Formats: sequence, C-alpha cells, structure tokens
Amino acid sequence: MSFSELDLDPRLERALLRAGYSKPTTIQKAVLETALEQRDILASAPTGTGKTAAFLLPALQHLLDFRRRDPGHARVLILTPTRELAEQVRQYGEKLIEGTGLTIGAIVGGRDFQLDADLLGGNLDLLVATPGRLLHYLEQEKFDPRQVELLIIDEADRMLDMGFMPDVERLAGEVRWRKQTMLFSATLEGSGLERFVSTLLEDPVRCDA
Ligand code: AMP
Repeated sequence: MSFSELDLDPRLERALLRAGYSKPTTIQKAVLETALEQRDILASAPTGTGKTAAFLLPALQHLLDFRRRDPGHARVLILTPTRELAEQVRQYGEKLIEGTGLTIGAIVGGRDFQLDADLLGGNLDLLVATPGRLLHYLEQEKFDPRQVELLIIDEADRMLDMGFMPDVERLAGEVRWRKQTMLFSATLEGSGLERFVSTLLEDPVRCDA
C-alpha cells in the first residue's frame, strides 16, 4: 500500500515524498484509515514505528479539510510527557506542514514566559505541550480550550509513570468540545492505563504497530 491510496492532501503527499517515505508503516496505515473517519483511537505503538507521523498526518489532514477563515487559537492539541519530546514533535510537524500555510508551536517549560504568551496569543493551528505547563496557562486564561477539536496524547504510559495522568485528565475535561481523541502508548496491556482510557476516549478503535 502506498500513501496515495489514503487520499491525503497533495501537500501532505509532497511532504512525505520530501521526507523520503514511500509507504506508510503498519501503525500509520491503521491509524490513518480510521482517524480520517473521526473515530477515537487507542494506539499501541512504541517509538520507531512511525507513530509521530501516524498522529500528525490525520491531524494535518483534518486542519486542511476544515480550514477556518480567521486565524485563531490551536485546534489540535498534542500532549507529551517531556519538553524534549514536545520539541521533537514540533520539529517533525514543521517538516510536514511546509507549503500548507499551517502553523505549529510548542509550550515547553524552562524558557521565557513571554515566548509562550506570544505563541498562545498568536495564530496557531497545532499546539504541542507538556500538561503541567499548559494547565498553568489555562488557569491564567491564556489558553482557550474551546478551540480544540482534536486531542492527541503521546506516550501515555510515560505520562502515567511520571504522575501526569491527573493533569491530562483535567486538560481533557477542559477541551471537552473536541471531536476526536487519539491516545498513543508504547504498551497498553498491563500498563495501568486501562482506567484512564474509558474517561478519555469514546468507543475507540484499537490500532497496533
Ligand atoms: P517515530 O516512531 O515517530 O519516532 O518514527 C521513527 C522514525 O521512522 C523516524 O525517524 C521517522 O522519520 C521514520 N518514519 C516515519 N514514517 C516513516 C515511513 N512511512 N517510512 C519510512 N520512515 C518513516
């Protein structure tokens, strides 16, 4: 199977060609086919399986399918357990959005608050953030949860290990107008995530790498 069979926007197909990807990985195929139908996704996919593109591609396709007229706050929120991962996801996203006119930014702890304020106050399509830092901005009303249409939780098992799941649950409760949620984890069975899955996802489709 090639990417062209997935009916992606030509700009995304070009980005994939530039990246040198000829065909989707197992997780990309599984997630893309169901995510584009706006179903919730529960994905078991360790790093190295192509999981980042598996959630970024349907998110970008969603934004390109449903363009809004006026610039505004982020419509796609990606939560990661660490600032390093947030930065990696942002960089990966930058490559895929080239030529689409979409914008991506990351809220990462440990840097000047003014940079984050500028980012949150500006025109942004995708926001990558660690939960604690984003809750801080939510409390200050600098982040508008009503704009979020798609929530992605990356490395949920690490979120759990690091004690971030209550923050994730709180944020998920705030972005309750979303249309779709995708949860990615290196492992699912025996991970302890089971009890969160039912509160975060609605009738999810299981996708494995
Ligand atoms: P990830 O699992 O997202 O950390 O990705 C692991 C590596 O696979 C990264 O270096 C990606 O650039 C690469 N990759 C992602 N999707 C594909 C693909 N469809 N074909 C070849 N390599 C890919």
